[in-house]
Amino acid sequence: MYVFTVKHFHTIVQHCLDYLPFEAGGFLGGRGNVILGIFPLNNFAGFEGREKFEISSYMTSSVFEFFKKKKIQVMGFYHSHPERNLPIPSKQDVLASQIIPAIRLNMIVSINDILDVNCALFETIGGKPIKQTIKVVQDSKIDQYLI
Ligand SMILES: [Zn+2]
Repeated sequence: MYVFTVKHFHTIVQHCLDYLPFEAGGFLGGRGNVILGIFPLNNFAGFEGREKFEISSYMTSSVFEFFKKKKIQVMGFYHSHPERNLPIPSKQDVLASQIIPAIRLNMIVSINDILDVNCALFETIGGKPIKQTIKVVQDSKIDQYLI
């Protein structure tokens, strides 16, 4: 189980909706099993961005600095799958999490249409994506979940 605040969870879904028809993405940071920070990114794939997400290396270094300042670790990545029903990692999603160990968590927001949004979280364990439960709590309650 991984815990998100309402604020972070809402920001992620809203970012994905705002970016339609293109893929949106960003980093997840935190400690233990608690997400304590998110860093939405711009998609650098341009018009190919309907089917893929590209990160600039400049942005990646800002993300690591941002999380370091907040004293949290990079835990993973979220991204959207526009015009798809079920949030299932693609072959590329699995490959990316195998290549980059910092991206242990992969959150997928599938958007069939604006009223049909499905979210799922996968943790890469032994090179395979294992589905995890997402728990969303009020911002003020997040401290209870920190060990
Ligand atoms: Zn994907």
